[in-house]
Amino acid sequence: MPGHVYLIGAGPGDPQLITLRGVQCLKKADIVLYDGLVNPQLLAHAAADAELVCVGKHGQQRIWTQDEIQVELLRLAGEGRVVARLKGGDPAVFARGAEEAAALSQAGIPFEVVPGITAALAAGSFTGIPITHRHHASAVALVTGHQQDNDATDLDWNALAKFPGTLVIYMGVTTAHIWSKALIDGGKRADTPVAIVRRCTWSDQQIFRCTLAEVADRLSPANKIRPPALVIVGPVADLPDQLDWFQRRPLFGQRVLVTRPIGQADALGEAFKELGADPLYQPAVEIAPPADWADVDDSIARLADFDWIVFSSRNGVQFYLDRILELGRDMRLLGRCQIAAVGDRTAEALRQYGLLADLVPEDFEAASLAASLAPQTAGKQILSIRASRGRDVLRQQLVDAGASVRDVVAYQNRDVLQADAGIGQRMADGQIDWTTVTSSAIARSLAQMFGDSLHRTKLASLSPITTQTLQGLGFSVACEAKQYTMDGLVEAIRQADV
Ligand code: SAH
Repeated sequence: MPGHVYLIGAGPGDPQLITLRGVQCLKKADIVLYDGLVNPQLLAHAAADAELVCVGKHGQQRIWTQDEIQVELLRLAGEGRVVARLKGGDPAVFARGAEEAAALSQAGIPFEVVPGITAALAAGSFTGIPITHRHHASAVALVTGHQQDNDATDLDWNALAKFPGTLVIYMGVTTAHIWSKALIDGGKRADTPVAIVRRCTWSDQQIFRCTLAEVADRLSPANKIRPPALVIVGPVADLPDQLDWFQRRPLFGQRVLVTRPIGQADALGEAFKELGADPLYQPAVEIAPPADWADVDDSIARLADFDWIVFSSRNGVQFYLDRILELGRDMRLLGRCQIAAVGDRTAEALRQYGLLADLVPEDFEAASLAASLAPQTAGKQILSIRASRGRDVLRQQLVDAGASVRDVVAYQNRDVLQADAGIGQRMADGQIDWTTVTSSAIARSLAQMFGDSLHRTKLASLSPITTQTLQGLGFSVACEAKQYTMDGLVEAIRQADV
């Protein structure tokens, strides 16, 4: 039984610019052969046990020849495997997709081609240069600047010089001196506007504007504009940049390190991405089940004895309530208790289990919970669900107010001891613009993990207490959230960055 091959367009770089069908096919694959231009984040769509093979330039790896790729596709499919062949942009635009498809067709191997957003279209959208325009260009030509044999061009540049529309030149960086001269010799005006777009849709996208006469110099090795870049030639390249929405976003080009634990970092990272930043992830603490469930289980058995149950975090809600379910019981056990939750997110987590908090203090500070709870809890039995570490303000205030409090540790909060090597290097090189610090535990863990390198980034702190911890560790804080929430933190960075 032959396998199946999907030739999938990965789009220009931003991992969200792949089609739904492309993602679906990636999920089905046993093995993914991907090109160097493909954003590696896309590989996360593949099954956990799928084999991932880079056939393009990637670190020290060599580039496979086209023949080798085709032989491998046939061999894998011949063994009955489902293969995703993931290519940058569109598989049929200067990507030799047709050759791969022809080889598969000849061998009788079923295949499908999933289109992708080609770089020319993405460059237009992400720079605000419309590649066609009712008044300026009624046609567009996608052109390769890549020379086949020596310098003899196989393209008719004379004809292209007269093309009545926009030219978008792929792979033209190293050959710019040849094709720009050929176009001018063919009669194209030397002052034709040109835009060079490098790494379009990536967070480090760059755009350089010049004229056709100047483009060879702008792309000369001395100016170090490295591929991938494409060149848009025509009047549209010179329109006012009012359509540039991408590079104008408030945090464009800023690298922000998100240090929350796995599973809680995505929303914060996405919020930064919406503002144009490039989020990087390095969890500083990790969340794990308690070393021993005995205490939790005992408290569950005695739930009927408590007047209030207080959840200080979303993790507390999840670990504690999941444990009730694991024991084969359900939420009716909480029927007698009133419920308090620190913060909206904790309350939201409770809602997922069909529970509404009776009390949600305004801010994230445990002290404020104690202040609002204390009047109601004198003489009452309180169960407080917490992490293996954290501040004890809550308990003390409740006890002072005459309540009887039982603390139960429902999950562990542990330091991650070592940073990812790549992140560590970037931190040491001062390449991380902002680092988010969302708790004192995270502050301490980051100080331990990065040492002095942590002076090379701007620290954004969630609250005055986190700020104090950072300062106590010898670090200065560049901004602090006014509202002690993740949204507040994003807003603080946005304001500090102007
Ligand atoms: N199949 C791809 C093109 C492959 S050829 C597509 O459809 O986009 C490789 C060339 O594409 C590069 O040399 C460059 O000219 C262009 N290119 C690819 N990705 C790009 C990007 N993100 N920004 C600018 N140019 C890009």
